[in-house]
Amino acid sequence: PTALMAGKKGLIMGLANERSLAWGIAKLAARHGAELAFTYQGEALGKRVQPLAESLGSSIVLPCDVTDDASMDGVFEKLEAEWGQLDFLVHAIGFSDKNELRGRYVDTSAENFRMTMDISCYSFTALSRRAAPLMKDGGSLVTLTYYGAERVMPHYNVMGVAKAALEASVRYLAADLGKDGIRVNAISAGPIKTLAASGIGDFRYILKWNEYNSPLRRNSTIEDVGGAALYLMSELGAGVTGEVLHVDCGYHVVGMKAVDAPDI
Ligand code: NAD
Repeated sequence: PTALMAGKKGLIMGLANERSLAWGIAKLAARHGAELAFTYQGEALGKRVQPLAESLGSSIVLPCDVTDDASMDGVFEKLEAEWGQLDFLVHAIGFSDKNELRGRYVDTSAENFRMTMDISCYSFTALSRRAAPLMKDGGSLVTLTYYGAERVMPHYNVMGVAKAALEASVRYLAADLGKDGIRVNAISAGPIKTLAASGIGDFRYILKWNEYNSPLRRNSTIEDVGGAALYLMSELGAGVTGEVLHVDCGYHVVGMKAVDAPDI
């Protein structure tokens, strides 16, 4: 352990299980001395999140559904009462109807468009507004995005549009909150097999494609994501805000299939 995150208190939102990107971040933050609180969505996930949180020494584990304003208010009231301040927040939340994470983007329904935008994009703004007053010594807000925001990826569809809006909101939030010493950044993670990713059509093909064509010739891991988050949440990232940091084994710099890539 190092003192990198010693004395820092952070809220981790979006942990579902030990495959979650949020888990990679939580493990590293705890290992480097941070004190953590967690939220979970729904009782079924609560049963999984509780023991994971306890294994990192966390005693604050709260329900939160980002489609419910009162539930978000409740989380920050509780943190104000328990901690009185907050140093970082991790937003690792996204959702879309899996029937629309295949086929054509043009067929996206209005209802799922609104829900995807609300849960996957607006919730970061709604949570940032609630977290900022608790970040009395400044702070760091981190969200998770994907390259499908920048380029068309098969099946990513409405989620790509929501991630593009999320990345734009990172820049606007950074501009709004910078004068309070609050930094706002996104990590653009490469594809990783998680519960959320299993809803995306042909995900195994996408994983193989990235493994064969990324400069590092492997897929990124939740530990890679944790390392980047640690940089953004600690003093190491003190001068960094409004940034979208790619943690994708370099995939975003590639323009074509690698000459040595095997057929999939
Ligand atoms: P995951 O399934 O482990 O986590 C997704 C989380 O979102 C779950 O904990 C779920 O409970 C939560 N969530 C969904 N709807 C919610 C709501 N209404 N209220 C509160 N929480 C809600 O999957 P993950 O892949 O770790 O996803 C975390 C983030 O990382 C997402 O934003 C995802 O888009 C992003 N991301 C994932 C990948 C990947 O390949 N897995 C790549 C880049 C970015």
